[in-house]
Amino acid sequence: MTSFPGNKSNWQQPFWSDKDMLALVISELDTLPELLSFEEISEFNKALAAVYAGKAMIFQAGDCAERICESGALHVRKKLTFLEQMSRELSTLMGLPILTVGRIAGQYAKPRSQHNEVDGDRVLPVWRGDSVNRPEATPEARRNDPQRMLLSYHAAAETLAEIKRYEREYPRDVHPIWTSHEALLLDYETTQIRTNPHGESYLASTHWPWFGIRTLAPDSPHIAMLANIANPVACKIDATVTPSFIATLCRQLNPQRIPGRLTFISRFGRSHIHRLGALIQAAQATETPVLWMCDPMHGNTGKTQAGNKRRELSDMMAEISGFLRQVKSHNACAAGLHLEATPNPVIECFCENNHPEEHELKQILCDPRLNVEQTQMLLTHWKERQNDL
Ligand code: PEP
Ligand code: MN
Repeated sequence: MTSFPGNKSNWQQPFWSDKDMLALVISELDTLPELLSFEEISEFNKALAAVYAGKAMIFQAGDCAERICESGALHVRKKLTFLEQMSRELSTLMGLPILTVGRIAGQYAKPRSQHNEVDGDRVLPVWRGDSVNRPEATPEARRNDPQRMLLSYHAAAETLAEIKRYEREYPRDVHPIWTSHEALLLDYETTQIRTNPHGESYLASTHWPWFGIRTLAPDSPHIAMLANIANPVACKIDATVTPSFIATLCRQLNPQRIPGRLTFISRFGRSHIHRLGALIQAAQATETPVLWMCDPMHGNTGKTQAGNKRRELSDMMAEISGFLRQVKSHNACAAGLHLEATPNPVIECFCENNHPEEHELKQILCDPRLNVEQTQMLLTHWKERQNDL
């Protein structure tokens, strides 16, 4: 098994029993064409610098877990139209250009809190995203298969091709759509680190990688991987992060203090968001330019009586209010929103008019997403809270 330092649940890396197949897959991934070029990534760096300068804000959204079977034109088009429409509405509300970023073209690996789940009288390994195993509740489907990393590479390529077609069809009317995902799977991501003729390394699998809360620790191999690439980097943070660790992250991930290079995505939960201020101060003390984004979803995930995940719009709104209060009162950059949302007419999150049933919640593959109307409610709330401050 590839071994990574530390022991934070082996940094969420899947165990691959078929070592020969793993080696074959890695050597193929190493030689496949880059998904994005250095130039495309550099464009995104510039776009984020404009956000730091207050000239634009970010709308980042998409599925919790992207599906390989949804990388065809029809599904991707629907997601792109949704991202575009929400960005347009946010732009009108805020009177600012929007950077539209999908959790798309690579969001295929999921960190999990448990190794196993109980299904009736069986215990099954959990689903770790389409690049690792399959979600069906059978032992065979849950077996980790390294060949799925190749499938996810090709799904990302297909999705990116559709994004480019979409942008070409409407060159003047649509925002460029930038891609992002959690750079979780080290066996995959390290094959996508490429070098330009000047010797600069970049992660060609996405414009904007982030690393999540379950791989955030001082000795995280994910931090080490992202510290040395030219892409801008985002890092989820919550109330367990100390001011001194934030200062370390600033120094490690943005030593040259480049505006837009480093984003912290805050996902504290409504009852902890008041603690963000201390972290903003710690980042400011290092004189590192930082973008602060609000993910109001992952810190507000409760459980229903039957044990399904439960997210409630009023909690998300309270977190957005707290986030804006903290960021604005410290004169820091409130860069935008990070949401799990879908164009599909689903009811996965609770709000005044929507009360999903237990059997509906049980169907959700990973985390509950917002539908279009719920997304619009959060955008309006973001705008209204700005007016109040
Ligand atoms: C996610 O964004 O789907 C996720 C798992 O987030 P976090 O690392 O913040 O829990
Ligand atoms: Mn999620």
